[in-house]
Amino acid sequence: MPTESGQEVSELSDADLAPAIDALTSASSVTVLCHLQPDADTIGSGLALAIALDRRNVPVQVSFAEPAILPDSLQTLPGGDFLVAPDEVADEVDLLVTVDCGSVGRLGRLRDRLDGARRTVVVDHHRSNTCFGEINVVDAAAESTASVIARLLDLMGAEIDKDVAHCLYAGLVTDTGSFRWVRPGTHALAERLLETGIDGGRIARALLDTHPFGWLPMLSRVLGSAELVQECAQGRGLVYAVVERSDVGDLRSEEVESVIDIVRTTSDAEVAAVFKEMPDGDATDGPLWSVSLRSKDSVDVSAVAAQLGGGGHRFAAGYTTRGPIAELVSALTDALE
Ligand code: AMP
Ligand code: MN
Ligand code: MN
Repeated sequence: MPTESGQEVSELSDADLAPAIDALTSASSVTVLCHLQPDADTIGSGLALAIALDRRNVPVQVSFAEPAILPDSLQTLPGGDFLVAPDEVADEVDLLVTVDCGSVGRLGRLRDRLDGARRTVVVDHHRSNTCFGEINVVDAAAESTASVIARLLDLMGAEIDKDVAHCLYAGLVTDTGSFRWVRPGTHALAERLLETGIDGGRIARALLDTHPFGWLPMLSRVLGSAELVQECAQGRGLVYAVVERSDVGDLRSEEVESVIDIVRTTSDAEVAAVFKEMPDGDATDGPLWSVSLRSKDSVDVSAVAAQLGGGGHRFAAGYTTRGPIAELVSALTDALE
């Protein structure tokens, strides 16, 4: 569906969505799975869908494999009552829907629930999506999975009221970087959600602009040791920072995830990376790291992340790896050549 300017607004027609609508409107029970280390797009999408299904009197569970507790900032979303611990997710279900998951790996230990589902629907916006569902609704032109869910809810005839809008707005505002990465239609959706009476400023502040004082000294340490590798990526440059567990202390994942948004603004480098050491019981092969990658316009970091075992979008991707930091930096610089 290109606009007059030729920009893709969606890669999917309403007819492409019909099999998913059929599955969603005929399901007798539904499990909605969000990705590991969940963000507002996966949880917002999952809870919005759960609220709509519950209103149709369909039993619904929402879950994610890790961590054990939902990040603090996401506890502000409506529909939290549908969340269950991974062990409580039914082994068998009529329909399983994954939201914002580019591959089965993003389900973590909940991937086995795919086998116990009569039907599966994958709803996502990652170009790298492996289409691991029976029905795949993957719109790589969509700015967020929440936007795809909004379209599905409309086609299902489900009402987007204040609670559903709150969940969808959470995904939209975070995945667009507070409406910086947008397409024709982004603001129209935002307007429609805001019309329900949600407080957009308050939702954005809770998700993106709220940190404890300890965040400031953590940033100071981590950013103070950032490195610029100018010759990397054919001279376009790599800037990176490392967040070790000792830097994190009692801080939340929200504080750790905020670091990439500062590092990526460095104008001397096309590519930015943040290596985030994960809490990990078994560290015999070296510490476990979750790595965030960002680029500005000429490097496809989803391809780089895929080469290193992860995935994502063209300008925002990530992967998980193990080992001493010097080796990981050199593996990344090699992948960028
Ligand atoms: P993040 O840097 O964690 O905000 O992630 C940026 C993008 O990369 C998101 O779209 C994620 O879905 C994707 N991503 C992050 N980590 C991984 C991973 N370990 N495997 C696959 N995709 C990932
Ligand atoms: Mn996500
Ligand atoms: Mn997303």
